[in-house]
Amino acid sequence: MKELLKDLIRVNTVNSANGGEIGRIVKEYLEGRGAKFKVREFEFEGIKSFVYENKSEGQCELALCGHYDVVPALDWKEAFEAVEREGYIYGRGACDMKGGLAAIIEAFAQLSESEKRIMLLVLGDEEKGGFKGAERVLEEIDLPKRMILTEPFSVKELGDKMRIGARGVLFLRGKIKGKGGHASRPHLADNPINKAEKLIKKVKEFDGSGDDALPATTLSLTQINASGGAINVIPSELTFAVDCRYNRVKNREYVVEYLKEVCDEVEVVLDQREYINKDERLVEVVKNAIKEETGKEPLLSAEGGSSDGRFFCWKGCGVVEVGPVARKMHAKGECVKYEELEKLVRIVVKSAQRL
Ligand SMILES: [Zn+2]
Repeated sequence: MKELLKDLIRVNTVNSANGGEIGRIVKEYLEGRGAKFKVREFEFEGIKSFVYENKSEGQCELALCGHYDVVPALDWKEAFEAVEREGYIYGRGACDMKGGLAAIIEAFAQLSESEKRIMLLVLGDEEKGGFKGAERVLEEIDLPKRMILTEPFSVKELGDKMRIGARGVLFLRGKIKGKGGHASRPHLADNPINKAEKLIKKVKEFDGSGDDALPATTLSLTQINASGGAINVIPSELTFAVDCRYNRVKNREYVVEYLKEVCDEVEVVLDQREYINKDERLVEVVKNAIKEETGKEPLLSAEGGSSDGRFFCWKGCGVVEVGPVARKMHAKGECVKYEELEKLVRIVVKSAQRL
């Protein structure tokens, strides 16, 4: 599996490039491991994804899911060299998520003769939202009953956290109107910048609590723009942007109404609703497998950004995420502790056998 991981890292898959090469590596590895499987290859707007299945029939009991695409390497020269040092393997995607991907490929090889129908999803486009990967692949395949995703969700040690959902993502743009004028006579104008004070206070005082399974809704002002074009001109309007992560109680409607109290217009420019796993058996089984391998019980969490799992969860598939520690994820020096991946394989295989 170590060579598999290195081979995966050595393929530059920034923005889902070279997907065909990934498909070839995975197929050769599975064949080399003597796995019995069939494979379907998909391509949506130039982005490849692959679905491997064992030969069992019936409803798919479990899907193992990962993505091969990575974020850009920036100025990191060794990003695609898969350097190994003291038990760690370095490279872009080492933890996000070619490490977790190698683990589920190996787990799938071990499970290929299972009587349960099991899928392995190797997807592109995750880092860009999954709209040309997971979302489209899901339209072409049977919905699996359950899914384990191996994104790097651990914080300090493998399995210290297990994710069972995520908040929704809402991007908003708003406007505060005023009346422009000469800055030497402010009493004749209505300066929208002065009114921003109320907006800032409102955002800072926001109470997003109320959902017992998901974290509090948060609001972050990320842009405020107003200019009259010169220092002596009072602008006529101010625009702003807010990044909101929402739970089921303080939701989209609530947030829009809340902001409307201190501005003239609010527009939703992106809304990706929350997801939360409802398959308790899946949580129980994976949790116990983690405990057996690591000696500790994972904390169930719904923090962090969303993943490809949301598309499946929205349709009723049980989804949990457990993966290696995120070490310098998306940064220079990204790495994964190889030992964690060996444990992860055992966690996934045990879970699959018990479900
Ligand atoms: Zn990822």
